[in-house]
Order: sequence, then structure tokens, then C-alpha cells
Amino acid sequence: MRYTEPKERTAELLRLTIGHMGRHDAAFNPVTFTLWYEYVAGINPKLNAALDAATGEAARLDDATVLRLYTDHIAPADAETMQRIGVEMDRLMKGMVQSASHTGHRAGTYGEQLSGLADALTSKDVYQLKPRLSEVLVGTAEMKSSVEALQRRVTVSQDEINRLRSDLEVARSEVLLDPMTGILNRKGFDQRLQAMLDRQTRDHPGHCLVMLDIDHFKKVNDTHGHLMGDQVIRAVGQILRTVVTDKAHSAARYGGEEFAILLPQTTLEQSAQLAEAVRKRTKAMKIRNRQTQELLLEVTISGGVTAMRDGDDAESLISRADAALYEAKKSGRDRVIRA
Ligand code: GH3
Ligand code: MG
Ligand code: MG
Repeated sequence: MRYTEPKERTAELLRLTIGHMGRHDAAFNPVTFTLWYEYVAGINPKLNAALDAATGEAARLDDATVLRLYTDHIAPADAETMQRIGVEMDRLMKGMVQSASHTGHRAGTYGEQLSGLADALTSKDVYQLKPRLSEVLVGTAEMKSSVEALQRRVTVSQDEINRLRSDLEVARSEVLLDPMTGILNRKGFDQRLQAMLDRQTRDHPGHCLVMLDIDHFKKVNDTHGHLMGDQVIRAVGQILRTVVTDKAHSAARYGGEEFAILLPQTTLEQSAQLAEAVRKRTKAMKIRNRQTQELLLEVTISGGVTAMRDGDDAESLISRADAALYEAKKSGRDRVIRA
């Protein structure tokens, strides 16, 4: 789903959204609401940039501007891409079928000409041989150009198909990324987790899961505002991107201020070390006021790590990692506990 914010946070977002709506001329309808909701949630960076630019130009946004921003940045871009790709694929396929059927038809005539020549050869009728031979020569030239045209068409179509395929891959992978942090979103996490579970192995090492949760994050929001809260989430996302570098591993924003790392074929020891590295870097991160350089806050994170066991499914694996995370919270936070 596009909106994964938990209920407590949406209450805050609702307040902020309504505040923005009240400051502009546009009607209070779902379009205006969605626009400002996405803005304050910070889940659509392009929309935020466009809105900032629009509010810079005009102090008060009207219905037309709101609708334009909505159609440009919220109306389902993915659906449009998929639709376009579908139409182009269809056009390509029709073109290929046409060329192939033309070549097929030409091949049929060529076959008849060849058998005519064969008949003339066996009948040893010299008068028949010459016209049959020239017919076949013309046929050969036509056949050659028809096959060449088909080949060209196939090459062009192949290029276009490759381009469409990579468009599709980009569109598909964007759906699995969290726009705020650039790491996998919940949907991306669920897919990778399933892939990891499907690759069940009895070999050592097995698979591990790390669950992480920022400590006392509510206080960050309450004391410094949700924009600062978002900045902290982005910073932790950045830490995960620098720490989780192995291609086989995946870091994800599991929801709100919770993160997860999937570690296929990795020992519990190595997984705990990676979680420790995230914890240490988070603690070392200093968030200062841009102007005054005054230290605003220090952030800590807690983690739970577990290795897959016989009979585990997604639910049991997550709940064991969660239990270890809960243990870490209960025993003082800013620590990683193994289950
Ligand atoms: P604990 O140490 O036990 O984890 O305490 P906590 O305050 O971090 O945990 P709690 O679950 O009570 O609060 C999490 C808060 O995170 C509540 C929610 O409003 C906030 N939050 C969730 N997602 C976001 C987000 O995307 N941005 C901001 N700014 N806040 C968010
Ligand atoms: Mg939490
Ligand atoms: Mg928390």
C-alpha cells in the first residue's frame, strides 16, 4: 500500500494536513487532502519539490494548481507506465506477426516455383527450363529481401522490447522502494523474505533476520517536530545503506521507525555484528542545528537478531526477531539481542 504510516502518526499528519489546507484557496476536497497529506508525510519527494516551488510562486494555491499537482505527481504514474508498455508491446507484436506472415506467404510461392523448376528438370523439357529458372531466380531475390526485412524488423523489435523491459523493471522496482530512505519498503521486504524462505537450506550457515527500532522516537517527534523525526529516519536509512553492502543482503524500512535486514546464508554471529555496526553508527550520529551547530539530539536504536530454524515461516521468524527486539528495549535499549 502507498500509505503505511501507523495510526498514531496519521493523527499528527492529519493535523498538519488540515493546517496546510486552511492556508490555501483550493476547496477542501480529497484531492487537496491527498496532496497535503503526501506532502507532510514526506513520501513523495517530487511532489514536495513541486509544491515548494508552487507555494514559492503563489502565496495561496487555487483549485487548478492543486489539481495540476495532483495529476502530475499523485495520479497513478505506475498505472500509466504499465498501460503504455502494454500498448507498445501489443503494437510490436502485431508488426512482427505481419512481417512473419508476409515472409511465410512469400515462402509458399517460392516453394511452388522451386517445385515447378524441379518438374521442368525431370521432364528435361528445355523450353520449360529457362522460364522456370528465371522465375526461381526472381523468387530467390524476393525471398532474400523478404527475409532481410523480417530480420530487420526482428532486430528493431528486439531493441524496443529490451527498452520496454528495462522501463518495466524500473517501474516495478520503484514500487518496492521506500521513497523516504531509498531502501526497500514493506512490500519489497515481504518479497525478499519470501524468496529467502523459499531457498530453505539445511547447509550451514542458514538465513538470519535482524529487526531494528529507533529508541524513544516519539520523543524526537514531540520535542523537535515530525520534520526532524523524518530527518532521523532518513539518516538511519543512510546508515543501513552504508553498512549493508553485501549484494545478497537486503535492508528495508519495515514501517514507521522500524527497519529490517535480511541475511540469507549468513551466520547469527555475522548478522549480530552487522546489527551492532548499525547500532554504533546510529549512536555516533550527531544531529546539529544547521545554523548554530548546537547539538540537538542523539539517537539510539535497538535490535533483535534471529537465525532461521526448522519449520519456521515468515511469521515465526519475524516474531522471534521481534521478541529479541522487545528484550533489547526492556533491558535498557541501545543494544542488540540474539534469539
Ligand atoms: P521505543 O523506544 O519503545 O521504540 O519508543 P518509541 O517512542 O520509539 O516507540 P513508539 O512506537 O511509541 O513511537 C513510534 C513513533 O514513531 C510514533 C509515530 O508517530 C512515529 N513515526 C512513525 N513513522 C514516522 C515517520 O515516518 N516520521 C515521523 N516523523 N514519525 C514517525
Ligand atoms: Mg516502533
Ligand atoms: Mg521506537
